[in-house]
Amino acid sequence: MDKTPLFLQPALHEKIWGGTRLRDQFGYQIPSETTGECWGISAHPNGPAVIKNGKLAGKTLAEAWAAHRELFDNYQGDAFPLLTKILDAKADLSVQVHPNDAYARAKEHVPFGKTECWYIIDCDENSEIVYGHTAPSREAFRKAVDEKKWNSLLRRVKVKPGDFFYVPSGTIHAICSGCLILETQQSSDTTYRVYDYDRPGKDGKRRELHIEQSIEVANCPHVDPELTYRVRQEAEAKFTELLRENYFAVSHWEIRGHAGPIRKNWPFLLMSVLNGEGSLLIGDEHYSLKKGDHLIVPSSAETLSLTGTLDLIVSNPV
Ligand code: ZN
Repeated sequence: MDKTPLFLQPALHEKIWGGTRLRDQFGYQIPSETTGECWGISAHPNGPAVIKNGKLAGKTLAEAWAAHRELFDNYQGDAFPLLTKILDAKADLSVQVHPNDAYARAKEHVPFGKTECWYIIDCDENSEIVYGHTAPSREAFRKAVDEKKWNSLLRRVKVKPGDFFYVPSGTIHAICSGCLILETQQSSDTTYRVYDYDRPGKDGKRRELHIEQSIEVANCPHVDPELTYRVRQEAEAKFTELLRENYFAVSHWEIRGHAGPIRKNWPFLLMSVLNGEGSLLIGDEHYSLKKGDHLIVPSSAETLSLTGTLDLIVSNPV
């Protein structure tokens, strides 16, 4: 079976809070000076990535998923399950929350809710995120929202490059200005905005809020999830599993020379190059890798090796 990795052409999205770092740091062709999101590995209809190489060149990832499920270990489900993005927050994102699968299916008629996680690639000094809230109950949360007690309700957390945050569905959150983040998430675009700083959108009007849905789906009280990193240090590589949960496993791989052969323990592998360059060896074929590449290693690749100086975020559905 074909073992060629699928290199993807990302879909780029303008956002009122976006900037130019997706071009300046990653070399993507951005549509404007306020570009917020690069959907690097995406089969979502709101931003489909297109395959750049091999027999499927020109097809979308969604088309490959529909017609060539064997590349994905015959993984079940009508929709490709995951979405990998890079976000450039020049300004603050809205304070928001996402539903779980059951709520998303019942109320929005979409296949997935949205559990997500963030790896902080880079950020300005003293950058923050909003992560969770202080209300002890749903009633207290509703009251604080009604009374616009944002300062006391929202929990702000300082961040630095290399930090990692797990944001299960129901977590109140906002990525704030100065952060460049790689996000691994369920393939969903369902967002409930609870607060948008009363700022105008592109058309001068405020963006829509979804107060009732936010109150319904917010986890009350907020509880920080426990994270346990599992590190495997080799002579020329370090593998850090950041998260393994119901929907996905996410790892940070740092290659400083050679690593491999790495034996497959995933149905298929999503790979994004955060830094450096090098090459990926599958069978006896070499594929060059560079910063900004997004690719999928198909299930037919039983082992892979990596050479070079590379920082990667890799993920897989579980
Ligand atoms: Zn979010």
